[in-house]
Amino acid sequence: MPELPEVETVVRQLEPEIEGRRIELLEVLDPRWSRPVAPAQLGGAVSGRTIEGLGRRGKYMLLGLDGRETLVMHLRMTGNLVLVEGEDVIDPSGGRRLYEGERSTSARHLRARFVLGEGRELWFTDPRRFGEAFLIADADLDRRFERLGVEPLSPAFTPEALGEIAAGRRAPLKSFLLDQSGVAGVGNIYADEALFRARLHPLSPAGSMKHEHLEALRDAVVAALEAGIDGGGASIDDYRDGRGERGTMQDEFLVHTREGEPCPSCGGPIARIVVSGRSTYFCPSCQVRLRRRPRRRAR
Ligand SMILES: [Zn+2]
Repeated sequence: MPELPEVETVVRQLEPEIEGRRIELLEVLDPRWSRPVAPAQLGGAVSGRTIEGLGRRGKYMLLGLDGRETLVMHLRMTGNLVLVEGEDVIDPSGGRRLYEGERSTSARHLRARFVLGEGRELWFTDPRRFGEAFLIADADLDRRFERLGVEPLSPAFTPEALGEIAAGRRAPLKSFLLDQSGVAGVGNIYADEALFRARLHPLSPAGSMKHEHLEALRDAVVAALEAGIDGGGASIDDYRDGRGERGTMQDEFLVHTREGEPCPSCGGPIARIVVSGRSTYFCPSCQVRLRRRPRRRAR
């Protein structure tokens, strides 16, 4: 499932390739992608527009268009946004060859295609079909994302800000990091990696962190996300980058999916538990389980 580093990788790859280009045609092939808006209606609204930029908020991709509107896309579980060029491009209705090699499996799962001219197309592929897109006025973006938490790669993500978000929360740290209304963009992979880097047990209550823990967790979240971006994202399932290639972060995981393997720090076995229904990997020796802070007695 794509998280912040996977989305950021795609955005950084694709933005210089598509900025300033005109979308000759947006063809929506799956009504689920645009619902509740009809495919032809969204396609008609976007076709003919010029791309002014590609950005990100949390795990959302923001395709900025002329006319002060943005097409917001979310990859959800198995979505990919890939630039396709030259001989790979075909008319999907013609049933001719789509991708080369490994990419050919993706072609069956094409949900929308942006025809950019000069033999270039942007494809949104998605086997599980949870990915989605909607068009919104730029003026409404802030309100649309007002319940989304702090951007962890922004200057606003300080230990103090993290402390304010975590204050009074009894939820385990793992669940706290997965909650997009607190810190935006962190998912199952990078929550595990960040908690290991911070030496914090995933079941520690979020509100129990003292300043030293907040500093450690802030730094660890940033480091884990930056490692993910440096690795071009993690391809443990369907994720491919903006060129259709696999990321390499899955080879760099410190603890995630490493049950039974030696901890990179102490050599003891990595453990797996389930938190909030999600597999959670950690080192029981290195990661400290904080106790809930006693409530202040009312006077
Ligand atoms: Zn360890």
